Amino acid sequence: MSKKQPQPERKNFRIKKGDTVQVIQGKESGKRGKVLRVLADDERVVVERVNFIKRHVRPSQKTPQGGVIEREAALHISNVQLVCPGCNQPARVGVRMEGDAKVRYCKKCNVQVDKG
Ligand SMILES: [Zn+2]
Repeated sequence: MSKKQPQPERKNFRIKKGDTVQVIQGKESGKRGKVLRVLADDERVVVERVNFIKRHVRPSQKTPQGGVIEREAALHISNVQLVCPGCNQPARVGVRMEGDAKVRYCKKCNVQVDKG
């Protein structure tokens, strides 16, 4: 029996698109929002309505006036924590096997984060 070649380990952030996270560091600390994007290579996440930055936009056909737009800037993954659906706290997350599936669970209250 030959073992499968080990895959190059992709960093497992334990945070996925659609998760609710809380910012635990920085000026946005305490804010919660839904993860809009995970930028795995940069170890960053974009969280809905958190960490708005203003961007100056040059006049173009779309925006003849130019101006300032606000949008979410990415946060470093270490500055956010998953909010546990069980205890409603930012919590450390572990991974365990449920049958054949890997599921995430809260290390505080042991509630499973992923649905089935
Ligand atoms: Zn919990």
